[in-house]
Amino acid sequence: MRKSELTITPVATSKNARQVHRRIALNCIRLHTPISRAELARVSGLHRSAVAAVVDKLIEEGWVSEGAVNDQARNGKPPLLSLDVERAGILAVELRPEITTVGLAGVDARYVEQTSWPTPQTPEAFVRRLARTVAAMRRAHPRVVCEGMGISLPGRVDHDGRLVFAPNLRWRDVNLSPLIETACGLPVVLENAANACALGEFWFGRHPEGIRHMVAITVSEGIGVGLLINGELLHGGQAMAGEFGHVTLDEDGPPCPCGKRGCWERYASNSAAVQHYVHGPSSEAGGGIPRFEDLLRFAAHGDGRARQSLERMARYLGFGLANMATALAPDLIVVIGEVTAAWDRLGPIVLDSMQRQSLPHMTTRVVATDAAAQPRLRGAVSLVLQRHFGTPHVA
Ligand SMILES: [Zn+2]
Repeated sequence: MRKSELTITPVATSKNARQVHRRIALNCIRLHTPISRAELARVSGLHRSAVAAVVDKLIEEGWVSEGAVNDQARNGKPPLLSLDVERAGILAVELRPEITTVGLAGVDARYVEQTSWPTPQTPEAFVRRLARTVAAMRRAHPRVVCEGMGISLPGRVDHDGRLVFAPNLRWRDVNLSPLIETACGLPVVLENAANACALGEFWFGRHPEGIRHMVAITVSEGIGVGLLINGELLHGGQAMAGEFGHVTLDEDGPPCPCGKRGCWERYASNSAAVQHYVHGPSSEAGGGIPRFEDLLRFAAHGDGRARQSLERMARYLGFGLANMATALAPDLIVVIGEVTAAWDRLGPIVLDSMQRQSLPHMTTRVVATDAAAQPRLRGAVSLVLQRHFGTPHVA
C-alpha cells in the first residue's frame, strides 16, 4: 500500500501538525477503508498515539465510524475504521442565475435530499431562502452531522468570501461568506463554478493516473474556466484567474455583461447561440426568446437555423479550447454544460475546430461530462472535502 496521497505544505505549528495528521488519517481511511488503527498507523506513517488522538476526534465529529463492519464475525480481531458516509453530511449548493439547487450529500457525493428554487434577485433574499432550506434539511435528517457547506457560483470570490465578479448573476460586490455563515450556522466555502467542477472532476472523475493539469469549462449563460495546475486550483490576483470567457475576440463584437464587446463567451456560450438564432441574418423568429434547450430540440427536429447557430457556437468553443491547450498544455479539458447533451453531434465540430487551431504537438484530451452527474453540485461537495482531506492526486 502506498503512503498517504496528499499535497502537504511544510508545518511549523502544532495546530498545523494536527491538521496535517487529520488529513493524512482521513485520506488513509478513505483509500483503505475499512482499516484497523494499527494498519492505519502503518500505512500513514503516523505514530500510534497520534492516530489514537486523531481517530477519536474524527469519530466524535461524525466523520469516521469504528467497528460497524462485520464486527461479530471478526472474532476478537481489532475493530475497523471506515468513513461514515451516512453520518458525515455536506451541504452542496449550485447557485446559477436562474435556478439554485441545494443538496445534502454524504462524503461519497450521494445525495440524501435535493431541492431547487428560482434564484432570488438579491443576495440578501438568496441568503434568507438558503437558510430556510438548510434548516429544513437538517431537521429532516437529524442523524446527519453537517460538516460544512460548499457553494459553486457563476463568478469569482476573493479570499475573504467577497463576490468580486459575477456579470451573469448581476449581483453587486457583496461579502457573501459571512452573510451565509451567520444565517446558516455552518462554515461555508464559496468557489467559482468552473473551479469547483475542476476539483469535483479531480475527486470523483475517472481519469488515468498522472493527470496534474486540468482545465474545466462551464458553458452556460457565460463561460467559466477553472484551472487546476499541478493539482492545485489557480486563483491568481484578486481571485480573477481563468476569465478566458472575457478574452476579447473582436473589439467591435456583440456587447457583453462584463462591459466590453466581443468577448469569447459572446460567441461560444448558450446565450450566444440563442442570440445568433434570434437575431441571425435570416431570422424569422417570432414569439418569445427560446431557451438553449429549445434550440437543441429544434436542431434535433431538423430546424436548419437552430443547427447553424449551434454549429457556430461549437466552432467558437473549439477555437477557445485550442487557445487554452496552446497556452497551458493541460492534460485534460473537461466540458460542462447543456451542450454536452448534444455532444455526439457537436463534439466532433468542437474537436475539429480545436484541432485546426492547435499546434501540432497538442496532446490535450477533451472530455464532455455527463450532466446526470450534476458536476456543479458535485464540485460544491468537493469544496468541503478539500477543506478536510486536502487536494488528492488523481488516481
Ligand atoms: Zn465579457
